[in-house]
Amino acid sequence: MFLNARMVSGLMAVALCAWIAGWVPGTAERILIMVVGSTAVFLAMFYRHEDGVHIRRHSALETQSDALIDHPQFDVIIEAVPDPLLFIQNDRVIAANAAATDLLGKEVLGQNVRLAIRHAGAIERLTDPQAEHSGRAFSVSGLGRRDQYWDMRIQALDADTKAVSLRDRTMERATEKVRADFVANASHELMTPLASIKGSIETLQSPEAGNDAEARDRFLGIMSREALRMQSLIRDLISLSRIEAEGHDLVPSPVSLPDLVGTVVGGLKSGSDPRANDIVVKAPDTLPDVSGDPRQIELLVSNLVANAMKYGTDGTPVTVVMDATPSGSMVALSVSDQGEGIPPEHIPRLTERFYRVDSGRSRSVGGTGLGLSLVKHIVERHRGHLEIRSKVGEGTTVTVRLPVAQS
Ligand code: ADP
Repeated sequence: MFLNARMVSGLMAVALCAWIAGWVPGTAERILIMVVGSTAVFLAMFYRHEDGVHIRRHSALETQSDALIDHPQFDVIIEAVPDPLLFIQNDRVIAANAAATDLLGKEVLGQNVRLAIRHAGAIERLTDPQAEHSGRAFSVSGLGRRDQYWDMRIQALDADTKAVSLRDRTMERATEKVRADFVANASHELMTPLASIKGSIETLQSPEAGNDAEARDRFLGIMSREALRMQSLIRDLISLSRIEAEGHDLVPSPVSLPDLVGTVVGGLKSGSDPRANDIVVKAPDTLPDVSGDPRQIELLVSNLVANAMKYGTDGTPVTVVMDATPSGSMVALSVSDQGEGIPPEHIPRLTERFYRVDSGRSRSVGGTGLGLSLVKHIVERHRGHLEIRSKVGEGTTVTVRLPVAQS
């Protein structure tokens, strides 16, 4: 049996207590000194409590892992690990860093692992003598919060002692889910018009409908509308993936917002949508250029104006206002409509892909559910700012702020 430095100091302290007790008259006083002294020494030997680090020893046997835990820098080392880290000896938690006690509670120190880590799968692995504790990661869900996912690693240090580390994978899982949902939603969005086109073709192939001019026109109309819907959707999907791919490689150039808005509005006014005549543009005589990709900013403006035209009431103005912000470091572009407005609970989710307040309404006006998601991505790529304000029954104003180009 080896004696470590703390034990030697403890034994010396016990001897000191006995020596002092020998000088004190009266048996009761001597016993009291010995009891109080021994308790204090016991606590000093077996507990250590410092800022953020809590270590409890329960084994007097000096093993390889004890030597590690007794290392003078042990506390510093385990606190340097940002993820939860625990040491378990004979199924008891003997040490834990602050990340671990934040996750599992301060009371886990000294507790049996079954109480400390309340997760059946993790406990099964930890306490199974046949399990290979080689530090290979396995997934644990629902530890801490129900929606949390972790990678757990168990590394055997010696026959009785194991180091357990956890890495939070919740964010990665959420990202994976968003991607999986996106593919499912995009497929569904494409299947709907495709099913409509297929149904119309089958109907037209039947002699009754195929030979009836009125029915033929009706089904050809459906096919043309649904084909346009697929085209818009594919166009938006391509734009979205292109913006994501270009990512932060954006090479910004100075862009005149009034010129760009003029081009977009001019294009709309020469088109067939009568709502284009309701567009009103307001800008000061001089406005600094913004810094960005003209194609992406044009897409942003088109989407905001298209939404205001779609969801604003026919015959009411669609107002596009541009101005420098009070600090002069950004230019604000606002697109306002007078229309149905958006209930406040929907506003935080409008920039999610395929999120719509009213799917039927969006589809009937040719919406893809991707416009505001595109706008958000473009604004983020340009280090700008997006704000949506709306009042039900009054209308909506979407404001985008973009940084001024450096001269
Ligand atoms: P969509 O192609 O369906 O218009 P968006 O991503 O552009 O998709 O917008 C998401 C949803 O936000 C729309 O379906 C609609 O419900 C709502 N929305 C967007 N702009 C407006 C607006 N100006 N007024 C009212 N609702 C709006």
